[in-house]
Amino acid sequence: MKEIILIKDGELSLKGLNRQNFEDKMISNIRRKLKKFGDIKIRKAQSAVYIEPRSDDFDFEAALDEMSTVFGVAAFSRACVCEKNFEDIKQKAPVYLKETLMGVKTFKVEAKRADKNFPLKSPEICAELGGVLLENFSNLSVDVHNPDITVTVEIRDFGAYIRAGQIKGAGGLPAGTSGRAQVLISGGIDSPVAAYTMAKRGLILNAIHFASPPYTSKRAEQKVKTLLKKVARYSGTIKLSIVPFTEIQEEIGKCCPEDYFTIIMRRMMMRISCIVAEKDGCMALITGESLGQVASQTLPSIAATDSVCNIPTLRPLIGMDKEEIVTISKKIDAFETSILPYEDCCTVFTPKHPHTRPKPGQCEKAEEKLNIDVLIERAVNGIVCEYIDF
Ligand code: ATP
Ligand code: MG
Repeated sequence: MKEIILIKDGELSLKGLNRQNFEDKMISNIRRKLKKFGDIKIRKAQSAVYIEPRSDDFDFEAALDEMSTVFGVAAFSRACVCEKNFEDIKQKAPVYLKETLMGVKTFKVEAKRADKNFPLKSPEICAELGGVLLENFSNLSVDVHNPDITVTVEIRDFGAYIRAGQIKGAGGLPAGTSGRAQVLISGGIDSPVAAYTMAKRGLILNAIHFASPPYTSKRAEQKVKTLLKKVARYSGTIKLSIVPFTEIQEEIGKCCPEDYFTIIMRRMMMRISCIVAEKDGCMALITGESLGQVASQTLPSIAATDSVCNIPTLRPLIGMDKEEIVTISKKIDAFETSILPYEDCCTVFTPKHPHTRPKPGQCEKAEEKLNIDVLIERAVNGIVCEYIDF
């Protein structure tokens, strides 16, 4: 019996004239992700994408698992392909659904008749096929309100399809439909969630990490790479730039008032991030900031860091509380890594009483003795890059 993966796109159907581009992007992303599981043929029609395995060794389970990471997909399921005649549907349904239906007590049949030329109307399909399944499985009864399983028959362009239930997809927009942005990634809980959240809106990601050896260790760097790997499962390959930040932090420690350490450090991070972003074709920065979470995430602090940037900074977590952020972190399997206790450069040089209301003018004064251009040039020249893939 021929089986396919049937995919429904969600938000894409709202895209009007652009829809074709969005769908094509999603299909090429699917093709890239699934090719390791065997040869496939992909077709699309009527808000659906059909994935047909072309080799016997196609790993269906693994492919389905991977489908849940493709942005742009609203829902997906495995489905049995039938000819567009009811005899074939009636014959195949009990065989294809045997294992599933043996394990439940109640069911209902739903019919979707996208091809209006099909001779039976939807209620007739439901009633007839329901009868066939009741005859074949004595354990079953019909429950139209709250069934254990819904059997769906879809009469579509290329054929008829039978499926039992469907899986919710990753949603969002296909990776690569919104351009490229650079995420400032630490080893914490927030920034990987910010990266995932923006990738979900169709962005391709680059990442930048500031490391301060020997105050921060190789293991802290490894943690960042592990976190990016989790994100890359959804976003695709991520270029990571690791910036040597020790000298800058030490200079800030020597030349600036202590209560300004954090905000000046963040301004230096943003300045360097903007330079690297421009070089790598990124149109925006992404951070994991959430309003009021810590001293550097008050509105005056955000204004003081924004004032040194010449591209927008996206802060998808700005209105979320920790619990909401942790829920997403767990969902993308990043949480257990994020809570490993390695040091971040931000925590190494934390002042006892950081400023919560810095004014841009005051920041500039506090930075007076810092040789900003020279420090930035040296840090940028010391950047090491790596590509992180799932
Ligand atoms: P996170 O959980 O992402 O580490 P946080 O709650 O610890 O965030 P901060 O330390 O104030 O908050 O950092 C705010 C944001 O600044 C982070 O979400 C991240 O985007 C960026 N950031 C912090 N430290 C680094 C670093 N070492 N390298 C790159 N970006 C960083
Ligand atoms: Mg942090």
